[in-house]
Amino acid sequence: MRTMPGDATAAAGRQETSSVPASGPASATASAKASASADESSSASASSTSPASASSAESSDNDSAKIAALEANLTGAEKNEILTKAKQTALEYDKTPTTLKYCVAGKGDVGSLTGFENTIFRVLNDPRGWPRAGVVFEQADSGCDFTIVLAAPSEMKTFADGCSDQYSCRVGDDVIINKERWDDGVEAWLAAGGTLSQYRTMVINHEVGHRLGHVDNETTCAGAGQAAPLMQEQSMSLRGCSPNAWPLDDELWTDLAY
Ligand SMILES: [Zn+2]
Repeated sequence: MRTMPGDATAAAGRQETSSVPASGPASATASAKASASADESSSASASSTSPASASSAESSDNDSAKIAALEANLTGAEKNEILTKAKQTALEYDKTPTTLKYCVAGKGDVGSLTGFENTIFRVLNDPRGWPRAGVVFEQADSGCDFTIVLAAPSEMKTFADGCSDQYSCRVGDDVIINKERWDDGVEAWLAAGGTLSQYRTMVINHEVGHRLGHVDNETTCAGAGQAAPLMQEQSMSLRGCSPNAWPLDDELWTDLAY
């Protein structure tokens, strides 16, 4: 589970650049969507969102507990319980649960992946998240539908030129989380009232949302103070909306057929 995805030669559509390096057995399935969601890519003017770690002492204390709870070890029984609940959530939303398998990998100097893995499993199967759209998620070591990579900033452009060392990115079946953003979030997003645990939740749900068929900014901010759409590029700008880590009601669809 800590190996790099195999030779899923994911074409990056938007930037016409691509190539995910081939270096390992854990391969994604062949149905890579030919596009890169270089979220928050370098070209946009992100002057107001220069990343940095920041938050008040009070909120960071409080949030530390939430981060620890997301990272905490999971027993097999606990995973089953979470999955069962996720499937129930799908049914409650009149969806037949579809299970997607994902691999987890690290690239570059990113340390242990254990807390990252546990956070991903909890977030992806949370009843507030994509299970409402009918999808539930199981981690696997091979045969994965997609791979979630925790990558050092210096490794981001090895996935696609359109990926930025500043932000996270999705290229074909690779969902790449930038280690620096994982550790620090984005200053403007945190200053707008978000916490790091929420940022981590948002970035997982947003980037995996691309793998489910969603595109950036397909839904626009409904007005000042409203919850930002999950697929809005919140790391770039909140556009007057409030930080939000979960899909809105009108984002509860998937297009897994590609
Ligand atoms: Zn995006």
